[in-house]
Amino acid sequence: MQGVGFRPFVYALATALDLSGLVGNDVHGVFVEVEGSATRVEDFLTALRRDAPPLAVVERVRTRQLALTGARGFAIAASTVGGERETLVSADSTTCAGCLAELADPADRRFGYPFINCTNCGPRFTIVRDVPYDRPFTTMADFPMCADCAAEYHDPADRRFHAQPTCCPACGPRLRLLDDRGNPVPVDDPVRAAAQRLRAGKILAVKGLGGYHLAVDAGNEAATGRLRSRKHREDKPFAVMVSTVDDARALCRVDELAATLLTGRRRPIVLLPRVGDASVAGSVAPGNRQLGVMLGYTPLHHLLLAALGGPIVLTSGNISDEPIAYRDADAVDRLAGIADGFLTHDRAIHIRTDDSVVRPFDGRESVLRRSRGYVPEPISLELPFPRPVLACGAELKNTFCLAKGRRAFLSEHIGDLENFQTLRAFTEGITHFRRLFDINPLVVAHDLHPEYLSTKYAHDLAGVELVGVQHHHAHIASCLADNGVAGSVIGVAFDGTGYGSDGTIWGGEFLLADLAGFERVAHLDPVPMPGGAAAIRAPWRMAAAHLNAAYADAPPAGLAVLARNESSWQPVSAMARRSVNSPLTSSAGRLFDAVAAILGIRDSINYEGQAAVELEQAADPGETGSYPVEITDEWPIRLSGAALVRAVVADLGRAVPVPVIAARFHNAVADAVTLVCATIRERTGVSVVALSGGVWQNLLLTSRTMISLRDKGFTVLTHHRVPCNDGGISLGQAAVAGALDRAH
Ligand SMILES: [Zn+2]
Ligand SMILES: [Zn+2]
Ligand SMILES: [Zn+2]
Repeated sequence: MQGVGFRPFVYALATALDLSGLVGNDVHGVFVEVEGSATRVEDFLTALRRDAPPLAVVERVRTRQLALTGARGFAIAASTVGGERETLVSADSTTCAGCLAELADPADRRFGYPFINCTNCGPRFTIVRDVPYDRPFTTMADFPMCADCAAEYHDPADRRFHAQPTCCPACGPRLRLLDDRGNPVPVDDPVRAAAQRLRAGKILAVKGLGGYHLAVDAGNEAATGRLRSRKHREDKPFAVMVSTVDDARALCRVDELAATLLTGRRRPIVLLPRVGDASVAGSVAPGNRQLGVMLGYTPLHHLLLAALGGPIVLTSGNISDEPIAYRDADAVDRLAGIADGFLTHDRAIHIRTDDSVVRPFDGRESVLRRSRGYVPEPISLELPFPRPVLACGAELKNTFCLAKGRRAFLSEHIGDLENFQTLRAFTEGITHFRRLFDINPLVVAHDLHPEYLSTKYAHDLAGVELVGVQHHHAHIASCLADNGVAGSVIGVAFDGTGYGSDGTIWGGEFLLADLAGFERVAHLDPVPMPGGAAAIRAPWRMAAAHLNAAYADAPPAGLAVLARNESSWQPVSAMARRSVNSPLTSSAGRLFDAVAAILGIRDSINYEGQAAVELEQAADPGETGSYPVEITDEWPIRLSGAALVRAVVADLGRAVPVPVIAARFHNAVADAVTLVCATIRERTGVSVVALSGGVWQNLLLTSRTMISLRDKGFTVLTHHRVPCNDGGISLGQAAVAGALDRAH
């Protein structure tokens, strides 16, 4: 990668080992020539990997013998240009320890300066306008370096050697405080003034690395509630930013892995089990056993956290589901009705990049939203792409993927494409990535759904080979690529919605799959979705559909879900029965919705997946009971949702507590997955199971299913580098397109 201090590191290392030679950059990466004693050259090669600077990624080292030159001394060679580019742009990185020390040192010339950075840290991807990665091609172009900064920049022994965004109070960006209408407020210290306002319960828009956040004092219930109502975000949990791991421990259970995720250079939001007496306002994450926590990652965050002296709610700067605001004028326009003031600055953000979201799972990091801090670092794959590929992704939680060689470059989280701004981010993002990584796709992969805007985008491209990839096959392929596996697996793709090969809506699928193809060997019994998309927003409609399927005549009298929705129940049921505007779906997500509504947990939702999330949160993790599972002996196997629904209703009738029923339902789904997989294994001999699709964000379900499958001797693959939800679809599409291309 460029600008990560690798050449100065090599220079220092070679000099220390008394080796002669040179180091330089070319289009393939870094080249080094060293001359000296054999043991020292060995030491050099060992240290090259072991001691590389924090932002450098050493993918592989290739060596060969050269003739001795007898030259003395070591030099940094000038960069060569031209040819096909292979050097990469780094992801944005949290402020390093060296910069934090300077930030807190009254004698340092960058004391308290909110834009301090160096070769080891700071903004990267979010400020890059073009390649090569040089200051004039970043949003730092507007800030000519002062003499002091320039001297550091040109000194190979300095931590800021070739640090493109380096700056100081004399030459760099400046902080400003604005009122609720975007007018400047003259204050001596914008950070202290901002902290005072937060302490007084105000809502502030704070400009971050990839966009604006909305901030309130996390301990202030009234302020948090006000933020919810102004942002029109009724229930979806907010994330909290703290200074240190110990501060995080006051809110959540933080084990060693969680601490590593919190303190690493990427600084994602980490979802962790909250402690009982967590000192945050109740409305930060209502009814949720988890809390999203992150540590400060910009100098401004560190200054603000220190000035406030407590955790801050930091949520994306938008109204409900719109994309996060990142351009200054637009932020003032859009956030004026929400924020009481703005803490902003004059370094532009080139690419809007949301916070990433991860959680520890099964001993490793599991990424749920891959964006700031991760993008544009490539996912390296086992098998190469014969021709460059563009994969356009899904409609919701969209990411796209450009791939060549063994590298897949996944975009930042773009969001839901139905919004005009996200669609523009999608098309402009593809253009940007093509230029940054010098990829001209010849193969373009897309979803089968004809109405997805990403599909339409693909169809509008000329002179490329199009590859349609079924949604759930893409999920499973994504999981395979994520795990570096290519062979045959039983792919269990459970999600909300995906266009099936037969034109119905799939989502509870068992696919015998490899990268190149799949066979649908089992699925949930389809039911109608009364009103189509309306049934996604109103889980009680799915309850009606599933109850009708479970009880041929009529569901048992006295069901609360029926009573609550009595006026619409008959028309909706009739619509489903007559197949009017009621597409068939085998979706597992919709089954979870139905059970959540039957249990009285939620009849209509305020954010995607809410009913299923709340069903999981309601479940008693101590409950081990389950329900009988019914499968047919046809091929493809059909798994009966009706049997599960009848068992849930029977328990309700016996006044079994809701948390117990919710847990039994989760356990039964885990048992059902295991039974179906065992039946498929008997017939096919395949004993590797890949779990993918948004439903697997459900931690209780995933852990129960893994335990159950492993008990039966299955090898289980889950996602870790890319999301199991639709954010990972583009990688799967690319992997399928690559496999088909290799087979040609
Ligand atoms: Zn630094
Ligand atoms: Zn300067
Ligand atoms: Zn999906």
